[in-house]
Amino acid sequence: MTKVPELFGSLVFNDAVMRERLPKDTYKALHKTIAEQKTLDISVANVVANAMKDWALEHGATHFTHWFQPMTGVTAEKHDSFISPAGEGGVIMEFSGKELIKGEPDASSFPSGGLRATAEARGYTAWDPTSYAFLKDGTLCIPTAFCSYSGEALDQKTPLLRSMDAVSKQAVRLLKLFGKDAKYVLSTVGPEQEYFLIDKEMYLKRKDLIYTGRTLFGANPPKGQQLEDHYFGTIKPRVNAFMKELDEELWKLGIYSKTKHNEVAPAQHEMAPVFSTTNIATDHNQLAMETMKKVAARHGMVCLLHEKPFAGVNGSGKHNNWSLSTDKGENLLDPGSTPYENAQFLLFLCAVIKAVDEHQDLLRISVASAGNDHRLGANEAPPAIISMFLGDELSAILEALETGSDYAGSSVSEMQLGVDVLPHFPRDNTDRNRTSPFAFTGNKFEFRSVGSSASIAMPNTVLNTIVADSLEQFADELEKADDFRAALKNIVVSTIKAHKRIVFNGNNYAPEWKDVEAKKRGLLNLPSTPEALPYLIREENVALFERHHVLTRTELISRYEVLLENYTKVINIEATCMCNMVKKSIMPAAIEYSRSVAETALVKKQLSQAIDTSVEESLVTRISAAIARLSEKLAALSAAIGESEKMTDAYEQALYSRKAVFAGMEELRAVADEMELLVSKKYWPFPTYGDVLYSVQ
Ligand code: ADP
Ligand code: MG
Repeated sequence: MTKVPELFGSLVFNDAVMRERLPKDTYKALHKTIAEQKTLDISVANVVANAMKDWALEHGATHFTHWFQPMTGVTAEKHDSFISPAGEGGVIMEFSGKELIKGEPDASSFPSGGLRATAEARGYTAWDPTSYAFLKDGTLCIPTAFCSYSGEALDQKTPLLRSMDAVSKQAVRLLKLFGKDAKYVLSTVGPEQEYFLIDKEMYLKRKDLIYTGRTLFGANPPKGQQLEDHYFGTIKPRVNAFMKELDEELWKLGIYSKTKHNEVAPAQHEMAPVFSTTNIATDHNQLAMETMKKVAARHGMVCLLHEKPFAGVNGSGKHNNWSLSTDKGENLLDPGSTPYENAQFLLFLCAVIKAVDEHQDLLRISVASAGNDHRLGANEAPPAIISMFLGDELSAILEALETGSDYAGSSVSEMQLGVDVLPHFPRDNTDRNRTSPFAFTGNKFEFRSVGSSASIAMPNTVLNTIVADSLEQFADELEKADDFRAALKNIVVSTIKAHKRIVFNGNNYAPEWKDVEAKKRGLLNLPSTPEALPYLIREENVALFERHHVLTRTELISRYEVLLENYTKVINIEATCMCNMVKKSIMPAAIEYSRSVAETALVKKQLSQAIDTSVEESLVTRISAAIARLSEKLAALSAAIGESEKMTDAYEQALYSRKAVFAGMEELRAVADEMELLVSKKYWPFPTYGDVLYSVQ
C-alpha cells in the first residue's frame, strides 16, 4: 500500500494542487475569493477550469459533473464529457470557466415543494469554491449549490452556507467585545456515522431490504444484543478488510476517516472522521455514505444506512459533534484557563442553552424523517423530547452563578464572572450520558438525534441559525452596556434562570423523564415527523430564518412540503411492499406449510388411528387462525393505502399515513412475525433476523 500521506487527498483538487498548478495571480485571486466568500471573476474561473481539466485528464477522467445535494437528502450528479468537436471528425477536451461556475441541470424532477412551479421552471447549480473538486469514478465532481432562477434555494447546501455566515457575523461581534479581532468564526462538525453490514446473498432474498432499506418483518433472533459482546469487540476479518479499503478510499477523497469500531448491535459498526467546517463535513459525510455502499459491494456485502434496519435491535444514528471556532483556531466552546476566557466560554455556552430551549421544535424537525421516527425514543436513542446534558460539574457552576452561592469545587466563596478562574472540570469519560439528545462533551456539543441516513446539512443549518440568534441578542445588549462586566453577568444569570429547564443530566430513557418530568417542565414532545413538521412554518420560525437570511418564507414552505411528501411516500412504499410480501410469499408459505402438516396428520391417522396427531392438529389450527388474521390485517392496510392515495392535502395525508397506514403496518407485521415462529424454516420465504444479522462471519 502507498503511504497514507501520499494517498491522502490524491483524488482532490486541493490547495496543494492549486498552488502547484495555478499561476500565482490566479491562485491568489481564488484564495481571496474563497476567504472572503466573494463571487469569482470569469477570467480567473477560466484559468482554474483549464487547470482542473488538465489535472482531471491526467488522472484518467473523461467527464465532469456539478455535484449537488437536492432536498432528496442524497446527492445528484449529471455527467458531461469534456469532449468538444474539433473538425475533421476529431475532438478536443475542453472545460470553460463558465462550465465550472454554473450548470443547468434539468431540475424539474427534483423535489421543490412547488417552488419551481411558482418561480421558474429551471434551476441552476453554482460552484462552491470552499469545497474542493474531486474525482470519482472517472468524473471530475464540482461541489455546487442548487438554486431556482429566481434565487430560491433548492438544496441543502445553500441554507447551510447562509447559516454559517449568520453565526459567524454574530460571533465576531461578541468576540470584538472581548477585545478579539476575529476575521470570521466557523461552525465545525465531526459526524460519527453508524451503519450495518450484511451479506449480499441475504440482502437479495429480502424484498423489504431491497425496496425500503429496512426489514418490514422479522421475529427477534434467539441472540440479539443481550450479551453486549459486539460493542468495541474484535472486528471480523471480512469487516476488517472492508474497513481498511473504506479508509483508503476516504483518504483518497481527502476525508479524515479516523476511528472505526464495532457498535452495540450485531453487524453494526461506526466510522468517525476528524471534524471540519460544517460545509465540508456535510459534503464529506455524503461522500462517505456513498463510498461505504460502494466498498461493501466489492466485498460481497451491503451497507445499510437506514435508521432502523431491524426492529428490536439498536438503530443507527449520526452523532453530530458541533462547535464554533475562530479563524485563528480558538474553539469557543472550550473553557479557557483565564478568567476572561471563562467568561467568554460561559457566554457562548449560554447562547447554546438559550437556543436549544427556545428552538426545541426546530432541532426536532431537523432530524425528522420516517426512518428516524423508529429510532428516537426506542430505548437506544434519545427520545423525541429535546433536552441537554451539561454534566454535574458544569451544572453546579451554573447554579452557583445563578444563585450567587458557593461553588463546592471553587476556593472563592462567590464566583465573580470575568474575575475568577473557573474550577477545572475535566471531561469525564466514564460518566458520559449516552441517553441525552444534546450533550456537552468537554469542548463541543454532541447532537445525538440525527439519523444515520440523513444529510447533516439541516441539523447544522438549524444549530448555526438558532445560536446566531442568541448571540445577536447578547451582542445587542452588550454593545450598548456601560458596565460590560455587569451586563455580562446579568446575561449569564438571566439566561440560566430562564432556560435551565432544558438542562437534564439524568436518564433520558426513563419513563419518569418522558412521561412526568419533561411534561412538568413544559418541554415539547413531538413523537413523529408529521406531528413535528407544522412547527417549521410557525410565524416565529419564519421570522427567525428570514432575520438571519438563511431561508425565506417561500423556501421554508417549500421545505415543509417536501418533507411532508417525502414522509408520505416512504410510508406508502413500505406499506405497499408489506402487502406484496404478505400476498406473494408469507401467506402462500403459511398455507403450504399448514397443508403439509395437515397431510402428515392424515397419513399418520391412515396408518393407525392410535397415533397421536394432536400436535399437528393444534399447529394447523393455530396457523389457520393466523392466516385468517393476516388476511384481515392485509385488507385493512390495503384499504388505508387506498384512502391515503385519495388525499390531496399534504399535511392531512402525512398525518393519515402515520395514524392509519403506519398503524396498520404494525398490526400486519405483528401477525406475520408470530407466524414466522409457527412455520418451518424450510418453508419460510426469506432469511430470518438471525440469518441476516449473523450473515457476515
Ligand atoms: P466520542 O467519544 O464521542 O467518540 P471523540 O472525542 O472521539 O468523541 O470525538 C467525536 C467526534 O467529535 C470526532 O469526529 C471529532 O473530530 C469531533 N470533534 C472534536 N472536537 C470538535 C470540535 N471542536 N468541533 C466539532 N467536532 C469536534
Ligand atoms: Mg460520540
